[in-house]
Amino acid sequence: MKVRIFDTTLRDGEQSPGISLSPDQKLTIAKKLDALGVDVLEAGFPMVSTGEQQAIKMITGAGLNAEICGLARANKKDIDAAVDVGLNYIHTFIATSHIHMEYKLKLTRDEVLSKAIEAVEYGKSRGLQVEFSAEDATRSDREFLKKVFSEVAKAGADRIDIPDTVGYSTPQYIAEITKDAIAVTNLPVSVHCHDDFGLAVANAISGIQAGASCAHVTINGIGERAGNTSLEEFVMSLQCLQFNEKYETGINTELLYETSRFVSKLVGMTVQPNKAIVGENAFGHESGIHTHGVLSNPLTYEPISPELVGRKRWLKVGKHAGIHGMNAMLEEYGIEPGEEQAKQILDKVKSIGDQGKQVTDVELLTIASEVMKERGIKRLVQLTGFSVSTGIGTMPYAFVKLRIDGTEHSATDHGVGPVDASLNAIQKITGKISEVRIKEYALASISGGSNALCEVTIRVEDAQGNESTAKSVGEDIVTTSVQAVIDGLNRILLKKLLKEKKVGN
Ligand code: MN
Repeated sequence: MKVRIFDTTLRDGEQSPGISLSPDQKLTIAKKLDALGVDVLEAGFPMVSTGEQQAIKMITGAGLNAEICGLARANKKDIDAAVDVGLNYIHTFIATSHIHMEYKLKLTRDEVLSKAIEAVEYGKSRGLQVEFSAEDATRSDREFLKKVFSEVAKAGADRIDIPDTVGYSTPQYIAEITKDAIAVTNLPVSVHCHDDFGLAVANAISGIQAGASCAHVTINGIGERAGNTSLEEFVMSLQCLQFNEKYETGINTELLYETSRFVSKLVGMTVQPNKAIVGENAFGHESGIHTHGVLSNPLTYEPISPELVGRKRWLKVGKHAGIHGMNAMLEEYGIEPGEEQAKQILDKVKSIGDQGKQVTDVELLTIASEVMKERGIKRLVQLTGFSVSTGIGTMPYAFVKLRIDGTEHSATDHGVGPVDASLNAIQKITGKISEVRIKEYALASISGGSNALCEVTIRVEDAQGNESTAKSVGEDIVTTSVQAVIDGLNRILLKKLLKEKKVGN
């Protein structure tokens, strides 16, 4: 069965606390989602603001493949606003739970029912495709909910949506009311689940198994409070897990990771490392047992191949490392220690891990070079001098001095801030020796207060498309950023150099 993917990243997702997008940003995300292959894009809620109206107009006029939908409360003004921005598909809603009717709407059941019917009739009279949502459906009286669904179907609704507005449903209950909705309307049914109890994906899947043909989802599961059903988790579950029936979606899964990162960056919400499918650690291995397993056959400790979602597996050494994983990592750099040497390297790695420290690739290579007494392996780029100046009424400015393979280089540059200026100066120097560019830069604060530790993650890429990431933790944002970039450069340069050496041999 083909499952319809109704993406609401730009509506419910944007309603996440702290997220606010400009019309241009909304349009770029809409294009990404369209390329990903979503069936429906809920572009926004026209009544929110003039910027929102402008964004929806830009999206409806962009010639995308996806159907474009907009949110409207069950009243003429909201529906007219949807028509005015070029929409021909609305998602109109009114609450049907006792708590919402009494405290928010201050309406009786009969009043809610007639407003629902009027909204659907009005939407149809304006030539719209109408998807009707009974807000807070899962906390509504089950018989009343059935009545509302059956009456809006008679009034001409094209689709029914069941929102689990506060994530209150169990998989079993949403299946039951999905069956109710189908039985009384005979219309296509969607489920819109929230993750307040971490059940959004499970509930959405349960709705599908009970006969719903569509789920409302968002990239990275962003949305009100704990968020919505995560698109990537939902789609990959349907595609990869065992069901009685075979489910398909129109999603190009190889674009999932890229889309996740794109949205995360634009909305300013990082993805937790242990998040399924798109989290940093989802295809990373450190423990010796797991690394050994994955190296002999990836299926031992990976349910799906990372390439399926546009990712690459990575291995890391540390306290839990084993000899196989470590040797595999060294081999990537063309280093093949003997049995005794490998043991010594691993012992040192583990002792660093036991001190609670991370072992980066560069450190691993440095340890290997010490043990193997190889002079060729060393830090290629060393920071030997560095200063910045910044303030108000002056342009941030940086001076950087690097030693590369024994030769000193220095450069100065401006930037929008001290970090930008420093990175520009570094790139001025490294641009001469190797075409390495900084592809991504992320800064996070680890602890609170003005003396907080910051964590900088960077991704660098060379002209051949080789990528390397590096992380640095410190108290000074600028220095930590520079350190992370130097580490990233060293990784990518070392990899290159050692490969060339190996070929040369
Ligand atoms: Mn919602």
